[in-house]
Amino acid sequence: MKKFKMLVGGKLVSSNSGKTFVSLNPATGKPLASFPSGNESDARRAIDAAEKAGEKWKKVPPPKRGMVLLRFSQLLRQHKEELARLIATEMGKVIAESRGDVQEAIDMAEYIAGEGRRLFSFTTTSELGNKFAMAIRVPVGVCGLITPWNFPVAIPVWKLAPALVCGNSVVLKPSSDTPLCALRVVQLLREAGVPDGVVNLVTGSGSAAGKELVVNERVRAVSFTGSKEAGLWIARNAGIKKLGLELGGKNAVIIMDDADLNLALEGVLWAAFGTSGQRCTAASRVIIHEKVEKKFEKMLVGKAKKLRLGAGANPSSDVGPLINRAALEKVHRYTEIGLSEGAKLLCGGAPAKGRGFFYKPTVFSGVTPKMRIAQEEIFGPTVSIISVSGIDESIKVANSVEYGLSSSIYTKNISNAFKAIERIEAGLTYVNSSTIGSEVHLPFGGVKHTGNGAREGGWTAVEEFSELKTVYVDYSGKLQKAQIDEFEGKKKK
Ligand code: NAP
Repeated sequence: MKKFKMLVGGKLVSSNSGKTFVSLNPATGKPLASFPSGNESDARRAIDAAEKAGEKWKKVPPPKRGMVLLRFSQLLRQHKEELARLIATEMGKVIAESRGDVQEAIDMAEYIAGEGRRLFSFTTTSELGNKFAMAIRVPVGVCGLITPWNFPVAIPVWKLAPALVCGNSVVLKPSSDTPLCALRVVQLLREAGVPDGVVNLVTGSGSAAGKELVVNERVRAVSFTGSKEAGLWIARNAGIKKLGLELGGKNAVIIMDDADLNLALEGVLWAAFGTSGQRCTAASRVIIHEKVEKKFEKMLVGKAKKLRLGAGANPSSDVGPLINRAALEKVHRYTEIGLSEGAKLLCGGAPAKGRGFFYKPTVFSGVTPKMRIAQEEIFGPTVSIISVSGIDESIKVANSVEYGLSSSIYTKNISNAFKAIERIEAGLTYVNSSTIGSEVHLPFGGVKHTGNGAREGGWTAVEEFSELKTVYVDYSGKLQKAQIDEFEGKKKK
């Protein structure tokens, strides 16, 4: 088994803890690589390095920072297949989706490179004469980036690229399930020309290295993607700093009686079983009009039973493994909960035989909105079918969960579509398309317990990683007092 190190101040280092952990291949359960178990003091070392290197990086003109990211996007493209195979092996998603993960990173790096020549800020009027008013973007400082395993290349890049273009230095703490993918991303950033210390990688658990990034006062911004539970802890313990939280989801596909059922079927299969249901935007609820429910259930079960489980790297696999044994056990626990709640198991409901962490695509019908399988994030290939009598009820059910990330409606009726757009409580709504499919140049994020209002991607991506400084330039040559001096043009008494 290969042994890897962390990257601090441009040097490959071991942990002060002297301990290591292993990253597994979830299709076999076998170890892939070992990494240092970075702890609090390692995180502090990385913060020191980031603080020092950040002084120079923030003075690099933003278009030049953008050029480094453009080179990075080209390197990602050049290494797309290698990275995709790494994702398929370390995280387990099937190879076509692994390529999509890398493509999302390429798109983001390319898009954000252009921000180097935009970073739009504001000018406005002043209430006083001969005075100029504007608000400009300045870097935040050291940013702590804490990422999950389900998009092991795309999510780190979604945070790294905007943080860097805004002139910040960073410490990345990736999930302990996918450190190899993170290391490769960081290596390519260095190859693209990011100076030593501007990007640091600390591997190790969230409860040690991750927590230090959250509580350390020298970290001025934390961008976190992960579970609601960890997000809540972070919100309570981060102190006074910028905070971006992208948390869980319990996304729904609504299917009306006028929908194209074949189209809806493709959308549900993709949203429920793609990435084995391990996407924050995965659909784990199908809210369907009672008139078409039975027909659709038959169609869905027919297809779900035919999906081929297999290693991500195998091109004939439709559904890869779950990330680890704990995930497999959690998904199966929810099957037992669904059965005990009285839902009807139509297919799946068990781990697949053999090695690795595979779970059969699972469909429950007869689910009611208050059941736990309809309320809680399962993060596996389990979908619950909930029957409703019309559009109003469907939206009410869609909104009856604590999360609000993605949503989708299949209908040919424009009034249904607009009711859903207007009333569903979610950061994303798709019409006649699956809950999955975000593009990098639009804002991404959720409402309610899915997040704290931050939006990644799009023109909003730089907001998380920059501060606005308001500047007044007075060229009147005299002391002018806002709110005290009268407006010019107004006759003085
Ligand atoms: P997780 O267990 O919350 O872990 C996410 C990251 O946070 C890991 O690097 C973890 O480290 C670290 N961590 C855990 N507790 C921490 C703490 N108290 N302080 C600092 N860091 C901490 O989530 P996951 O299982 O990796 O990912 C799945 C979750 O992510 C799902 O809920 C999914 O919906 C959500 N997600 C949301 C989005 C979105 O955009 N809204 C996108 C993707 C995924 P270790 O695990 O290495 O210990």
